[in-house]
Amino acid sequence: MPRIASILLPMPLPEAFDYAEPEGMELAVGDQVAAPLGPRLLRGVVVALRDGAGGNRPLKPVAHRLDDPPLPPGVIEFINWAARYAVDAPGWPLAMALRGLRAPPPKPQVLVEPTGVVPDRMTPARMKVMAVAGQGEHTSASLASAAGVSSGVVKGLVEAGALAPREVIKVQAFDQPDLERAGAQLNLGQMAAAETLAEMARRPGFEVVLLDGVTGSGKTEVYLETIAEALRADPTAQVLVLLPEIALTEAVIGRLTERFAAAPAEWHSQVPPPRRRAIWEAVADGRARVVVGARSALFLPFRNLRLIVVDEEHDSSYKQEEGFIYHARDLAVARGKIAGAAVVLASATPSLETLGNAEAGRYRWLKLGARHGAARLPDVGLIDMRETPPDANHWLSPPLRQAMIETLSRGEQVMLFLNRRGYAPLVLCRACGERMRAPDTDSWLVEHRYTGRLVCHLTGFSMPKPAACPHCGAKDSLVSIGPGVERVEEEARSLFPEARVAVFSSDVMESADSARKLVAAMEAGEIDILVATQAAAKGHNFPNLTLVGVVDADLGLRGGDLRAGERTFQLLAQAAGRAGRKDKPGRALLQTYAPEHAVMQALAAQDRDAFVEAEMAARELSGLPPFGRLAALIVSGTDPAVLEAYVQALAAATPNAEGVEVFGPADAPLALVRGRRRKRFLVRAARGVDIQGFLAAWRARAKIPGSVRLTIDVDPYSFL
Ligand SMILES: [Zn+2]
Repeated sequence: MPRIASILLPMPLPEAFDYAEPEGMELAVGDQVAAPLGPRLLRGVVVALRDGAGGNRPLKPVAHRLDDPPLPPGVIEFINWAARYAVDAPGWPLAMALRGLRAPPPKPQVLVEPTGVVPDRMTPARMKVMAVAGQGEHTSASLASAAGVSSGVVKGLVEAGALAPREVIKVQAFDQPDLERAGAQLNLGQMAAAETLAEMARRPGFEVVLLDGVTGSGKTEVYLETIAEALRADPTAQVLVLLPEIALTEAVIGRLTERFAAAPAEWHSQVPPPRRRAIWEAVADGRARVVVGARSALFLPFRNLRLIVVDEEHDSSYKQEEGFIYHARDLAVARGKIAGAAVVLASATPSLETLGNAEAGRYRWLKLGARHGAARLPDVGLIDMRETPPDANHWLSPPLRQAMIETLSRGEQVMLFLNRRGYAPLVLCRACGERMRAPDTDSWLVEHRYTGRLVCHLTGFSMPKPAACPHCGAKDSLVSIGPGVERVEEEARSLFPEARVAVFSSDVMESADSARKLVAAMEAGEIDILVATQAAAKGHNFPNLTLVGVVDADLGLRGGDLRAGERTFQLLAQAAGRAGRKDKPGRALLQTYAPEHAVMQALAAQDRDAFVEAEMAARELSGLPPFGRLAALIVSGTDPAVLEAYVQALAAATPNAEGVEVFGPADAPLALVRGRRRKRFLVRAARGVDIQGFLAAWRARAKIPGSVRLTIDVDPYSFL
């Protein structure tokens, strides 16, 4: 009986295609194959096999099976789940799962080795070569250079039969964790949490735990012991630790390396493709037991995934906003469920979604109370900017400047926190009032002084700052409005000319290496004032940092998006948590124009429960997550008439469904991006509603014109 193979291709196509299984090929689900599509041969994965000869038209046969290892069954199930969750083509998550295979397989190396044959003619040069060839591995080139002879001598010895070539493929080694090593000394609270988690790690099966502990309470030490337990319980077990940002990987990799005397595999976009291929293969065959990575590591082909740790689970960087749109925390829970693995969500300020699940008993909730060691929580004070404003075109208020003087005079460190990159978020013309915007885009250009350019953070467009206003032509009329980190750095330098000032933002920290150098300089006390964006607000321990000044604590409150309050609380709590982590008391000062706001009050009181209670009540009242579900449907196009016609057709085709409300169409908050107009519908649904089913049915009811793009964002985070 001939068989039909369903092959999924790693591209945004709506479904898998059928091919004939050639006689004798004996395919299995998960196999990687080369399949013809039009004139090309493409990599694909067998996702199903069934008996049959195809319909009235003979199917094209699969060309051949590839040498790369097959995808484990759980990975295919996960890909399908992720596609349904995101209401998107399954080829997208498949492309992410195969991303490690972009580099070609390593080429075999040709070694030359002595055969034992003695050549008829022996010269001094040949003798040198034969002496070196007996020691260690050599290619022809390395042998000639080690012996200090020309390559012709080596070639002659091969021809004479004294040396023979041998092809070898170098397999990159992966350190195996030493599970006999003792862990860190835990305090009583940590011990209790570690014991509960160890019990969970020993027992196979899916379970989600929220590891909830204030900054500095030692969550990492606790989950390191959970990892040890999972690896000990099953000799083939694999563990994945997810981190929201590359800047954090160095620190966690260091901790893991120290704990297990073995470096984990590191997975993110900056890992070079050949190394990524090596990791992909080692994850697939089980040699890599511990992987530390960014969100895309979820798509690696784990053979026996037993534990997933999502560190800083509340971090909005877990949301992928472009291409395949997903939230890595939600997908991690799904991946754990499919694999039957334990999932640990760790945070000092858990997301309201996770707290909702913990309160409802769907997740187990472990609380780590006291700060580790002698460190105390910092005092948080509010500075009312209406009472004590900074000088014109300055950003640091008198009380904050005074606190900086006191801190620096004690030889301690200051961090000024502002979650805004560049020098100034807006440049306008004093003569005509023109605001500088990116062409074809509805967002302001941000001035960057280091590079002397105006940059659109949305599209990446940039241009040199012009000498004259491009609108009215006035000379020297462009002024910078508002502060970014570069401008605060400038002010700090002019106020404290003796102090050593540095900036920590993603513009400066382009690589994990530069981030590590800056963190090391801060730890070594080589920096007095660090001006930082959110990149520095988490993860690091700076024992001599005792003052955190939050330059614009209201920033998150003005965004008009659902999570603004939550994000502000999280960022500020983490930034404040940076101060005074060892034995010196720390304090945090927040500059605000709204000291009476519930978020500011909760922060000053360090009362997370009060904040969560207020925010949860507001969300419940308006049916927003975690009490209801939300999705955005964004439609964009270059031709306004075509776009408008499609938007109207889509609005008319809205399905009637109980518990679902549709708002819009409205202009998206950024109505014009790269020359494309954007319209948005928002869908709000009750918790039990299958919002994905609704969206898929809706999309299918109106034909999309070729020039129009439709993007579905389930659980939107940014309202761009
Ligand atoms: Zn002008």
